[in-house]
Amino acid sequence: TVRICLFTRDLRLADQPVLHAASAAGRDEVLPVFVSDPAVTAAGFAAPNRLAFLHDCLADLDRELRARGSRLLVRHGAVPAEVAALAADTGATEVHMAADHSAFARAREASLLAALAPLGVRLVTHEAVITAVAPGAAVPAGSDHYAVFTPYLRRWSGVPLRRPLPPPPRLRTPAAPVSDPLPPRPDADLLSPQLAPGGETEARRRMQDWLTGHLDAYADEHDALADDLTSRLSPYLHFGCLSATELVHHARASGTAGAQAFERQLAWRDFHHQVLAARPDAARHDYRPRGDHWREAPDELKAWQDGRTGYPLVDAGMRQLRAQGWMHNRARMVTASFLCKTLGIDWREGAAHFLSLLVDADVANNQLNWQWVAGTGTDTRPNRVLNPVAQAKRYDTDGAYVRRWVPELARLSAPAIHEPWKLPAALHAELGYPDPLVALDAASARFRARRGLD
Ligand code: FAD
Repeated sequence: TVRICLFTRDLRLADQPVLHAASAAGRDEVLPVFVSDPAVTAAGFAAPNRLAFLHDCLADLDRELRARGSRLLVRHGAVPAEVAALAADTGATEVHMAADHSAFARAREASLLAALAPLGVRLVTHEAVITAVAPGAAVPAGSDHYAVFTPYLRRWSGVPLRRPLPPPPRLRTPAAPVSDPLPPRPDADLLSPQLAPGGETEARRRMQDWLTGHLDAYADEHDALADDLTSRLSPYLHFGCLSATELVHHARASGTAGAQAFERQLAWRDFHHQVLAARPDAARHDYRPRGDHWREAPDELKAWQDGRTGYPLVDAGMRQLRAQGWMHNRARMVTASFLCKTLGIDWREGAAHFLSLLVDADVANNQLNWQWVAGTGTDTRPNRVLNPVAQAKRYDTDGAYVRRWVPELARLSAPAIHEPWKLPAALHAELGYPDPLVALDAASARFRARRGLD
């Protein structure tokens, strides 16, 4: 028997339930397949940074499969047509894939099911491959999802997890058909210069390093911008180079306060996925409309995108995003709050810019974190506004994060570095750094008026 293992964003061999089921634990033949589908590009998800990372992931997966007597078969085209053609060519009886819950993923699954049915080929989807706890596996009475994180976390923590599966030792794969080439890696000039390399091998190296070297300190240090002590595993989780289930097991086994805090962040990831699964429209529409009248302000939007708002912490975050295709969570919160609440620009504009650069960007985590910050999502305090100066003084106390990303300010020390407009005019003029785009007091008054809070 031949079964197809259709990889999507579960690009790994360790703790890989889809491959495990498709290979029937090594007895039958398995055809590992990845389809590079133009629909992904058309839907706006194929930013150069992510395409480069994906290329690395697929190259690594192919290498690791070959080391086990198998290989990755790549096709370019629409998933339903390509997979159906492969099933017909190889006489495959089943196609296995990870369950995924965005509107895009569901439509893809439905079309694949329709394409396979006339061939008599069964489509088997596997839950809890992309998240540790499947959407729908932790729901409150009378609803299809949790709208508030804390009760979700309590419930999530009690859901029994699968034991992580070891990578398969050997696999049997039919010799035909031949693979198309991997989707190309975009030219370097289109990419963030400090983009992390993709792939499971790199992911596991980073995970080991993180678990042994830094996890302990995470509870105390995760908000310290300059120290950069978070795991940076988000891109590897996004592409499934690492299993969220395995990470939760490691965190639980370590039993430290840092591990508990880390596990909580992994629960946030599952939380947003279960909101999106229940409300796929939340990728585009306000989850909780607040009657916002967003401002059209293209020059201010551009200044924010370019990291030239005149608020050093905001600019540092935006420049880190461009340089690395990644941004520290605290900086994501401050830059997002600045765009939606201080400038009054629609969260969709910000989310689209993040999507064009973030290597870890996915619909659930990006769109729903944006909505959380904008106050149109699941935050129980939707009207709080993060003050970029106060946040800078608290989380970048000595200014090292700003100095790293905003070289115009590198010779300033804290706290002056966080409020350069307060410097003597001549000194400020020498810096070549913009004046603040808006005054915070006025912006905050405008926000309160927009939300009808006064
Ligand atoms: P760690 O602090 O080491 O956390 C471990 C893992 O937990 C992360 O890798 C991530 O998978 C998960 N996680 C942590 N915080 C969150 C969170 N708030 N929501 C969901 N999962 C979380 N994360 C993404 O993975 N993709 C996105 O597109 C994304 N967009 C965001 C947009 C905004 C406006 C904000 C405020 C946050 C966004 N986040 C997103 C969440 C968070 O910023 C990143 O997951 C985190 O910075 C990744 O760094 P890390 O791996 O070092 O995280």
